Amino acid sequence: NRRIVLAARPAGRPLPGDFRLETVAVPSVGAGQVLLRTLYLSLDPYMRNLMEEIGPGYAPPLALGEVLVGGTVSRVVESRHPDFRAGELVLAHAGWQDYALSDGQDLVPLGDVGRPSLALGAAGMPGFTAQVGLAEIGRPRAGETVVVGAATGAVGAMVGQLARRAGARVVGIAGGADKVRHLVETFGFDAAVDRRDPRFAERLREAAPAGIDVYFESVGGEVLDAVLPLLNIGARVPVSGFIAHYNEAGAEGDAAAPDRRPALLATLLQKRVRMEGFIVLDHYGDGLSRFKAFQREMTAAIAAGEVRALEHVVDGLERAPQGLIDLLDGRHLGKVVVAVAAP
Ligand code: NDP
Repeated sequence: NRRIVLAARPAGRPLPGDFRLETVAVPSVGAGQVLLRTLYLSLDPYMRNLMEEIGPGYAPPLALGEVLVGGTVSRVVESRHPDFRAGELVLAHAGWQDYALSDGQDLVPLGDVGRPSLALGAAGMPGFTAQVGLAEIGRPRAGETVVVGAATGAVGAMVGQLARRAGARVVGIAGGADKVRHLVETFGFDAAVDRRDPRFAERLREAAPAGIDVYFESVGGEVLDAVLPLLNIGARVPVSGFIAHYNEAGAEGDAAAPDRRPALLATLLQKRVRMEGFIVLDHYGDGLSRFKAFQREMTAAIAAGEVRALEHVVDGLERAPQGLIDLLDGRHLGKVVVAVAAP
């Protein structure tokens, strides 16, 4: 049973040495438990935040030596739980390891879902994040302009596609020409802008000539700088994340970094903007009912070709640390999953 633990807290960008691969015995199954074999592990930006000594508040920080957490698609290999059978596929939180025990409470049976890894991406937590942020806070109306950064990513690609289904005009921001092309050609965005373009702010203004009514914030940094002056009166800004700053934690502060607070506060006030953070975990519903309904609906929409889902597959558990480092650098297209064992 291989597992990857937190070896050191990162100073800035995580390094391979912040992770350690260990081999331990496969745990034995107690009464009321199931033994899970990890097939796919999801890599997500929040994992960087949990490596901090003081966590982000919605989940306990990892202790040194602890197995990294993570959503998984797992196979039940042995069950002493009345509701689960050996051989069954489930959505689980087995973390960065080959085998894990569960008492069944957090497991979602997957049944026959087609591509099982989709349950970690477009038809899973990241896709649900897009839906919750739009439904609860963004509320795009037909004809409005919606802007999203990290737009080819697991959350961003779904924000664009769901907002478009609501009749909005959707502008995506991503890093690099290839990603920008995919935004329009693969995901059907109305326009796309490369954040690395030296004239990025100007290009964004051209791409959103009627201003911005909904900005789905998951990036911060220079993307937020370019968005602020374009927000319309009454704009809504669901705050899902601020990945441009995650790797600043534990690093020496950058004295040259601009102070964004005055511009942000002035815009919120003058444009009467509603900016509201949310954590997707608060919205799963009783018995995960709302999440399960989303999962069913999205699995069907993807199978019917109405929603597109791209994946970046990292091959092998031992490559997960580099996979997370690359994810934070944006070196991927689509949802990042680690293929841990053959399905
Ligand atoms: P992505 O697959 O979108 O990967 C992250 C992307 O962020 C990269 O591909 C890169 O895209 C972009 N990025 C990285 N560094 C920078 C930077 N300095 N400036 C601008 N963009 C940068 O990840 P996810 O879709 O899984 O997550 C997206 C966001 O949603 C994150 O902020 C995450 O924390 C948040 N989230 C929040 C949840 C909640 O409950 N609130 C739940 C799930 C996710 P590119 O290079 O193309 O710009």
